[in-house]
Amino acid sequence: MAPDAAEQRIRGTHIRGRSLGFLSRQPVGALAGVGTKKEAALAEMGIGTVLDLICHYPRRYIDRTQQASLESMTPGEQAVVLARVVARRSRPLRGRRSLVEVDVEDDTGRLRCVFFNQPWRQRQLAEGTQVALFGKLEIFQGRRQMANPLVDLVGDRTGRIVPVYPSSEKAGVATWELASWVEESLDRAGPFADPLPEKWRSRLDLVDRTRAFRSIHAPVASEKEANVARRRLAFDELLRLQLALVMRKRWLAERSKGIAHRVAAAPGEPSLLDALITSLPFKLTRSQTQAIEVICADMASERPMHRLLQGDVGAGKTLVALAGLLVAVQGGHQGLLMAPTEVLAEQHFRSIRGLLTDFLLPDLERIELTRPVRVEMLTSRTSRARRDKLCADLENGDVDILVGTHALLGEDVRLASAGLVVIDEQHRFGVEQRAVLRDEERLGGERTPDLLVMTATPIPRTAAMTVFGDLDVSVLDELPEGRVPVVTRWVRHSSREAEVWEKVISEVDAGRRAFVVCPLIDDAGPSEARAVTAELARLESGPLRGVRLGLLHGQMPSREKEATMAAFRSGEVSVLVTTTVIEVGVDVSEATVVVVEDAGSFGLAQLHQLRGRVGRAGHVSWCFLVDWSASKEGAKRLEAMEETSDGFALAEIDLMIRGEGTLLGTRQKGRNDLRLASLVKDEDLIVAARRVAEDLVSCSPTLEAYPLLAEELRLFVDEADEEYLFKS
Ligand code: ADP
Ligand code: MG
Repeated sequence: MAPDAAEQRIRGTHIRGRSLGFLSRQPVGALAGVGTKKEAALAEMGIGTVLDLICHYPRRYIDRTQQASLESMTPGEQAVVLARVVARRSRPLRGRRSLVEVDVEDDTGRLRCVFFNQPWRQRQLAEGTQVALFGKLEIFQGRRQMANPLVDLVGDRTGRIVPVYPSSEKAGVATWELASWVEESLDRAGPFADPLPEKWRSRLDLVDRTRAFRSIHAPVASEKEANVARRRLAFDELLRLQLALVMRKRWLAERSKGIAHRVAAAPGEPSLLDALITSLPFKLTRSQTQAIEVICADMASERPMHRLLQGDVGAGKTLVALAGLLVAVQGGHQGLLMAPTEVLAEQHFRSIRGLLTDFLLPDLERIELTRPVRVEMLTSRTSRARRDKLCADLENGDVDILVGTHALLGEDVRLASAGLVVIDEQHRFGVEQRAVLRDEERLGGERTPDLLVMTATPIPRTAAMTVFGDLDVSVLDELPEGRVPVVTRWVRHSSREAEVWEKVISEVDAGRRAFVVCPLIDDAGPSEARAVTAELARLESGPLRGVRLGLLHGQMPSREKEATMAAFRSGEVSVLVTTTVIEVGVDVSEATVVVVEDAGSFGLAQLHQLRGRVGRAGHVSWCFLVDWSASKEGAKRLEAMEETSDGFALAEIDLMIRGEGTLLGTRQKGRNDLRLASLVKDEDLIVAARRVAEDLVSCSPTLEAYPLLAEELRLFVDEADEEYLFKS
């Protein structure tokens, strides 16, 4: 492969060896073994270039010296064997089923493999084919056989360790073919240029890239070699991700001028923040005070704030946000608070209005020279006329704090001077929405408003460093005093259900309230409504006869929702039968029992959220997780809930159970996917990558000193993200 013009340009700056960019411009069709048919098959697997191919890593390895021989396997044993196909036949079975029988052999003996309903095995497993089989040996009619083993076509490869690739049987690409194409690619590519400065390679004890690619595809001596290679290549993935995040953060900070809020009130002017703090019936927790201080400092600075406030359910994030909103308002700016659901928006609105009753702002145009701080709410259910009026007032600067749902993203929502935007429960909102909320044109000025994102879903450290790596993080790591841990029980048997309802009734008799959360329904909509309604009817006529029950679900008109919540708050309704609309943030201090039905089908974060609805006012509280048919994973989650009430511990467990796939969400797409790196297992690498990224960017803000890295970033990072990457 001769270098192309682009590669030569890079090499012009003293770089030796092959660049990934160059390989990304070589179609796989250029390889000797790849004809048009195979090229199409590879395309189907998402492999179009030599770069795609060498980043298609083995799924596992077979160590020939560790393989069972056919003779040594004992019945009932699961093992991997390497063997050669010697005979095959197929026949139809009754019904429309089919059977393919394949005899294989190694130096020690023979074995029959049977495949049910896989007629294509007849074609796939021609005589002479080398296969790795994974399965359980059994004796059937006196004969040794494996039924439906996993099959990898390994080809006639020499060497001790055989890589097994994710291959595509449907597309007709075998693992041995992939192995040979990769081999050809690496041979022809020659040594790789290494984008990672030697200083960091040796400090972090990482092998060079040439060796890494060789060893991951064709380890010679042992699998350990592949692990060493994996560590290097995983680091490269994480470094690219961290570079993107660090550069994005820097770009945001430099591109935009923020507002230097006047945090202290002007002389003679009462400070809204101080007034708030003195008016509270309780003392702020230490971590609330700290978070407020940090936020004030951020807001006072001209650099736009871009901060994530993490805190377990009930830690008191709303108050911290309100502190920030008041700082903005004090200086004559406005604040937005966006919540993920209407119920929650309504609650924030209500509590903020309550807290700010009689709060005054200076207003020289009035005789009194002051006016009340004005808090309003906007949701998609707000009437057209009211919406128009609110938007007009907002644009005039007559509304100080606007609380709402996604409706705040509407184009007609324009502010006179946005000072702070708060987004509650971040996981429901995407990055795009964050961007809309910072759109200067709508927000009344050249200055970017400060941004505070709040989440009650505790994010493990590693994830916080990746998914939210462009935000600064504050953590509320303690709960207000007087919180009592919630007694959590997994109700595993239907025989114990009655005890749950007895508890609900005795609490209701003591003047408390309860939530009954109905199972998740995939197809939300009318069926969601039907399911809760049915459950309400069942409880009403059975276990909770005589108790005042209320109904709440997402499909209700908002007026009814509000009425129900009001009745529940006042105690007119004692038990709320509901869907997960109450999941986030609903705050009714008299609630002491939450019953989650079919609990195993809920995610851990959700269960933790639901549990957080009770135990708020110092009363002993209960969480019953009802499920007698939980899946294996569901059971793990329920056990975890019984074991701990620490949201951070639960988040770590969740990550273990689920794997990280879901964590990156839609944020990182396509080629940017982490293939080797794991957010769960590679914490040390993530921390290292972050450090290196910060070091490199601080030496060379747009990576001009590291042209290879810059090129790789362009290759692997979404185009949408590119804008901010290389602009200074
Ligand atoms: P989060 O949003 O973090 O889950 P909230 O902000 O909804 O928590 O607060 C939960 C409840 O705790 C609210 O009723 C709030 O008034 C109350 N609260 C907040 N801070 C304190 C504190 N320092 N001491 C006592 N109660 C507090
Ligand atoms: Mg909250």
